[in-house]
Amino acid sequence: VSASPETFESLDPATGEVVGTWPTDDADAVRAAVARAAASSWSTAGYPARRRALNAWRHEIARRCDELAALVHSENGKPVPDAMLEILVALDHLAWSGAHAARVLRGRRVRPGILALNHAAAVRHEPLGVVGVIGPWNYPVLTPMGSLCYALAAGNPVVYKPSEYTPGIGAWLVEAWRSAVPADLVEALQLVTGGAATGAALCRAGIAKLAFTGSESTGRRVMAQCAENLVPVLLECGGKDAAIVTEGADLDAAADAVLWGGLSNGGQTCLGIERVYVVGRAYEPFVAALTARAAKLTAGQDYGPITMPAQVAVIRRHVEQALARGARALTGGRVDTALVPPTVLVDVPLDAAAVQEETFGPTLTVTRVADDDEALRQANATPYGLGGAVFDRSGRRGARLAEGFRSGMVSVNSVMTFASVPGLPMGGVGASGFGRTHGPEGLLEFTRTKAVTRERVRLPLALSSFERTTNTDRLLRLLLKARHARG
Ligand code: NAD
Repeated sequence: VSASPETFESLDPATGEVVGTWPTDDADAVRAAVARAAASSWSTAGYPARRRALNAWRHEIARRCDELAALVHSENGKPVPDAMLEILVALDHLAWSGAHAARVLRGRRVRPGILALNHAAAVRHEPLGVVGVIGPWNYPVLTPMGSLCYALAAGNPVVYKPSEYTPGIGAWLVEAWRSAVPADLVEALQLVTGGAATGAALCRAGIAKLAFTGSESTGRRVMAQCAENLVPVLLECGGKDAAIVTEGADLDAAADAVLWGGLSNGGQTCLGIERVYVVGRAYEPFVAALTARAAKLTAGQDYGPITMPAQVAVIRRHVEQALARGARALTGGRVDTALVPPTVLVDVPLDAAAVQEETFGPTLTVTRVADDDEALRQANATPYGLGGAVFDRSGRRGARLAEGFRSGMVSVNSVMTFASVPGLPMGGVGASGFGRTHGPEGLLEFTRTKAVTRERVRLPLALSSFERTTNTDRLLRLLLKARHARG
């Protein structure tokens, strides 16, 4: 993806055609973008003005959704209806963050306690300053929006660097912002384009926080770069999500959901299901239902090509290694081009890459387990912990399994539903990262919590003063004993 050192191209993954040519922003350009964002009056504009601006942006994107969906199709490769679904969910988050920021971030009064009886105490949530957002290519509208709108709604100007594979979509979003938002607030959202070096420059450009969504390995580098200046980071990294299917599940509905969770977007979904653990005698009928459904899907039609050419080799390695170690492919099994067929693997050794590492392709491993405890043990046996799914008709067993997941999110009798509920926080455990986007926690993530006390009345006895009398000292000792000596 490069035309000259100063520019690079983004390509249509299905055809290889050039979608656009973009500047490779260097450290000076990134610092200038941060300075423009910092100079905007966004932080002091107040919640109503920010809400109006976010709504104007939302309406602009919605009015031009066909244009955006077509661009997502050409630059990322996913089918237009999938792009439309992604845009819809993103706009729901944009609406929620704008509507709820004032309430969630209102702050609260706190009881001052006996030692500060004559004071009022309160918590405030203040904007951080310029937030840097670095995004991936796989959900080029939804994943960045999860940081962009929550950071903006909390009062922070933002500098956004989209993935070098989908810069056109990032540029489109920022252009839509510029045409929708009033002139005095427009500089609050800035775009920078480029690859790793531009991203690294953003980490070092004097920002107040960096929100990163991408792979675990890049997440580590981003965190190290931010550590140089003690810039806090939010890391939304990869996953290896599992689904658990019990004998009590509606097996056909589970097969339908698991297939969508594993293969939609060509499996290039951080929250995608990559592993399925099926309890006891549910195994055969579930595998039969899953395989029958998978066999009806066609790569390039039901889902798009693999967006990032280098990922094809990763998927091939995972599938070939599994097959070489005794696994069977009930559908698919060959990875030749960016159009990877639906691939259902069984009998995969538990330490194989296909079970342990993020495959990011349209593949599922299905494993029989003896009981719920083994299902959870296996499901939790990777370093990742992003989402997960449980299929069981009885409320209590499903809830118990959901509780046992070591992950940031879990859905019962569906896949990935939590990502479309704007009020629910989203984020990972372990190698999947930390910090939360979405929901109230997603707003709080982009604020600085400040504690404030205010003296209401002056008391004759001061505990923290060099003027303290021996009587006060005696009282202090009595107070200590009275409050803490007895249970
Ligand atoms: P990636 O890590 O290759 O790139 C992500 C972004 O980081 C890109 O914009 C890239 O230019 C930038 N980058 C690369 N090196 C950098 C550096 N040294 N400093 C700063 N920025 C740098 O990831 P990707 O291939 O674009 O995306 C796929 C990955 O994202 C998968 O692992 C997927 O699971 C993950 N993902 C996670 C979530 C989530 O919410 N947890 C959502 C979507 C995708």
